[in-house]
Amino acid sequence: EDQRLKIGALTTHRQLERSELIRERFGALADAVQNLGSVQNRNVATIGGNICNAAPSADTAPPLLVHEAEVTMEGPKGRRSMALEEFFLGPGKTALGPEEVLLEFSLPWPSDGAASAYWKHSRRQAMDLPILGVAMYLEAELKEAGPLGEAFAQGAPLEELLEALDRSEIYCKEVRLALGVAAPTPMRAKGAEAVLKGKRLSTEGLLEMGQVASEEAQPRDTVRGAAWYRREMIRVLPKRLALFCLKRIMGRKG
Ligand SMILES: Cc1cc2nc3c(=O)[nH]c(=O)nc-3n(C[C@H](O)[C@H](O)[C@H](O)COP(=O)(O)OP(=O)(O)OC[C@H]3O[C@@H](n4cnc5c(N)ncnc54)[C@H](O)[C@@H]3O)c2cc1C
Repeated sequence: EDQRLKIGALTTHRQLERSELIRERFGALADAVQNLGSVQNRNVATIGGNICNAAPSADTAPPLLVHEAEVTMEGPKGRRSMALEEFFLGPGKTALGPEEVLLEFSLPWPSDGAASAYWKHSRRQAMDLPILGVAMYLEAELKEAGPLGEAFAQGAPLEELLEALDRSEIYCKEVRLALGVAAPTPMRAKGAEAVLKGKRLSTEGLLEMGQVASEEAQPRDTVRGAAWYRREMIRVLPKRLALFCLKRIMGRKG
């Protein structure tokens, strides 16, 4: 139960991308690193650097937030740890003291019935920073998942998958939602999580979750996208993220 995954700060994105364990159990992180910069960037750039940079657009931040990562740092006064959520203080600002270095990330082992996913919403599929980053961790109880399982097997489009979800009986045991480029720091949308936790998963419930998340977020207008557009994407993307997670959960069970 107390098993945790430790990732050293100097681990490169490419090492994470090539890790079967990350792909199998920490899907959101795998999604993030496989589309971060170029292969050349990923070969040298580290997860520690991505987080210490504290850019609101850091692709690894939302996945680490939904996996409730803790960070450990060390300086002349010794070693200390804190939740990653408390580490981000503002754009480019972290809780690191001037003489401290980040040592590692520690992530709790995900529950058996859980999976995570990350969606990088960007104009281009390569070498582009996100307009918005959304990560979800979902633990589901599959009471009757037949209709959704069939829809996945047929490669059905999004709207049909959602109809199949509504005909299935799947409950949300635990959910975490994190957003990048939606506020001065990467953030958890905890009000939105509360909307879904313990409920039967449905299109309506996921839209309600998205609505609350879009109200919690504080996006701004930037060259990559307008605040209203980001809010609208935050409203609709949880539907897609939940389906990604469910596909992973059901794929493992099958
Ligand atoms: C062409 C290009 C494309 C990119 N695309 C993306 C992208 O798609 N998504 C994305 O999120 N980022 C992207 N980036 C940003 C960058 O590559 C990442 O943030 C990268 O992970 C930084 O890691 P690094 O090891 O190079 O850190 P560095 O650039 O070396 O360090 C960044 C900062 O963190 C500090 N730091 C680093 N490690 C530690 C540590 N262990 N302890 C304390 N402080 C530390 C450094 O002193 C520095 O201030 C891109 C960058 C480039 C150049």
